[in-house]
Amino acid sequence: MDCKDCPRFDNDSGRCRDGKMNPLRKETAIQVVQIHGIRAICTFNAFREELIHNRLLTDEAKRINRIKP
Ligand code: SF4
Repeated sequence: MDCKDCPRFDNDSGRCRDGKMNPLRKETAIQVVQIHGIRAICTFNAFREELIHNRLLTDEAKRINRIKP
């Protein structure tokens, strides 16, 4: 969703009232997650689900590598 169409967008400040970020590019979304964490990404962001899924896969791979003999 475009922030300008969202009821949580504050037109006066030009920011999200919830303090969320909604990057338009995937590369930017990845950087936001690396710096601020996944909770900083808006639930309406187009890349959020993919980033969560990739992080779960990474966590699972780390777990499997830890239990390998
Ligand atoms: S970041 Fe999300 S919740 Fe906030 S204004 Fe944009 S679309 Fe709405």
